[in-house]
Amino acid sequence: MDKGLLVVISGPSGAGKGTIYRNVIERAGMQRSVSVTTRAPRPGEVDGVDYFFKTEEQYQQMIAAGEFLETAAVYNNFYGTPKAPVFENIDNGRDVLFEVDVHGARSIKRKYPDAVAVFVMTPDFEVLEKRLRGRGTETEKSIRTRLGSAKNELSKYDLFDYIVFNDDIDEATESVLEIINAERCRVKNNIGTIKNLLK
Ligand code: 5GP
Repeated sequence: MDKGLLVVISGPSGAGKGTIYRNVIERAGMQRSVSVTTRAPRPGEVDGVDYFFKTEEQYQQMIAAGEFLETAAVYNNFYGTPKAPVFENIDNGRDVLFEVDVHGARSIKRKYPDAVAVFVMTPDFEVLEKRLRGRGTETEKSIRTRLGSAKNELSKYDLFDYIVFNDDIDEATESVLEIINAERCRVKNNIGTIKNLLK
């Protein structure tokens, strides 16, 4: 490919996008984009691997220095995508995968219209609630907030290029891998290579 792909995975909290994201990174050999957040680490989360955990003051300094591709307030915390590593990767032909909320997906698509945006959803909202409860990491209030947001997020469907209904995590992962493979084969993503062959 001429350049790396920028692939965005988004969707409601609890739909399984985090698991799909990890599976795809492992199987498609993609670069991860590690986000910066002001929220507290959950048990087992590692700084620099799951997120870069920052104070609000540090975060504001990063905004002022123009270090983000996009930044959003999600559930009372800030989340943002650091810009530099993303462009370094795609300019060197490496595909980058993002897991961001719907606002993040919109900002990325605006700044980089060639980004491929995939929405991950459960088959219905009852399954979503069950998964959020099953996770055991959220308070009742946080579960209510996340469920309330889910419908609003789905209503932004026209921002997305693909939707994957996650009924079975292995099948959903497979679908995302197929999407990435198809995008890698698109003529418009291989013009440079084709022209070289024609020389
Ligand atoms: P969590 O706190 O559960 O890890 O993430 C909460 C929400 O923030 C999720 O919907 C997740 O996709 C989103 N998120 C994580 N990183 C980023 C980011 O860099 N930018 C944006 N806009 N959202 C993010």
